[in-house]
Amino acid sequence: MEKKGLGLTTKILLGLFLGLLTGLILYFFVPKGMIRDTIIVDGLLYFIGQVFLRAIKMLVVPLVFISIVNGASSIGDIKKLGRIGGRTVLFYITTTAIAISLALFVASIVNPGITDGGLDLSRVVTQEVEINESVPIVDVFLDMVPTNPVSSMVNTNMLQIIVFALLIGIGLSALGEKAKNVSQLFSELNELMMKMVSFIMLLAPIGVFGLIAKTFANEGLTAIVPLAKYFGTVVGVLLLHAVLTYGGILKLFTGLSPVRFFKNFFPAISVAFSTATSSGSLPVTLDVSEENLGVSKNISSFTLPLGATINMDGTAIMQGVATIFIAQVYDIDLTFAQILTVIFTATLASIGTAGVPGVGLIMLSMVLQSVNIPVEGIGLIMGIDRLLDMTRTAVNITGDAVCTLIVSKKEGEFDETIFHGENSYDGNK
Ligand code: ASP
Repeated sequence: MEKKGLGLTTKILLGLFLGLLTGLILYFFVPKGMIRDTIIVDGLLYFIGQVFLRAIKMLVVPLVFISIVNGASSIGDIKKLGRIGGRTVLFYITTTAIAISLALFVASIVNPGITDGGLDLSRVVTQEVEINESVPIVDVFLDMVPTNPVSSMVNTNMLQIIVFALLIGIGLSALGEKAKNVSQLFSELNELMMKMVSFIMLLAPIGVFGLIAKTFANEGLTAIVPLAKYFGTVVGVLLLHAVLTYGGILKLFTGLSPVRFFKNFFPAISVAFSTATSSGSLPVTLDVSEENLGVSKNISSFTLPLGATINMDGTAIMQGVATIFIAQVYDIDLTFAQILTVIFTATLASIGTAGVPGVGLIMLSMVLQSVNIPVEGIGLIMGIDRLLDMTRTAVNITGDAVCTLIVSKKEGEFDETIFHGENSYDGNK
């Protein structure tokens, strides 16, 4: 495709940067008042950010449903589907366990909860914590089976939609010729969905600008200062995990360049970062993976929605660092057995975390409870969670894409020319 002017990736990067700049200027230099708050931040910026966010969210349910039916029906053979599913789940669980172990390791060296002069709890706890009872593990699995698929869709219950769609896809492939028109219909609907994503992606630069500018106009950077050590540790481990773990396994299993991978996948990373929702970013993640990474649609349409729902390495990292941080603030020493319990529960908690903003923090209560750390400690970190949420969401979806790439390559369904080709993503196939 011939390129005119700046590519979409550059435009999104510009949107991110200008959004950050505008937000910080509004926060630090523009006095609070009707013009700043009602007209600019909660008016204009809110509007443009939300138009983009709502538009991509609009596609999540139909896209996941259609693309999984289509993917499963075109993979055809059940054995192959089982192999891909097995590899994917194994990959997701292993990387999450690595993520949380890395987080615990780094946090116990950095000691984010031990500050010179001590951290005055009463000064920092700014919000009341309202923690829902955590869900028993058996219910997490039981809840995957829908009793009414329409209500699963209405409530955006991703795992239930995935299960329902998989069954339809498998049914269609079992029927073969007998249902070829329905299969064809799903394949065309899938094309339509991807076309709609590419239309919406044209809005991405300005949408990202609005979302980022509003966040920073409201939050500035000052909220970070009292918790700088915690904040820095989470971001540091997120970066380490992205570069070392993802870069390493990508190189190891595929021989592909991690730098190229991050460059190609950037449009999706930027959308996840500015929206803080893996599920919401899914239409973009799917589109970018196919168009820029060269993975096969059959595989990505299955692994990416699953990953956006159950694979949250970034969330597990936050939970690991937060557990050590809160334990240290409350002067609690964790035993080795407790550390193992944290690894186990944080892996489950991240699986159970919905891919929407802020849920990782709620699920943290399950991890804290498992080792008897006061759940109120969450109140300490709530104030700065939004910025961390953005960063961990970007890591969450990156893990999904790395897995998809590896599985695609192993299945021989990877188009290397797209991966190495001129980065031609312009959101408009
Ligand atoms: N916002 C995260 C996501 O959508 C989940 C979380 O950690 O809160 O991936």
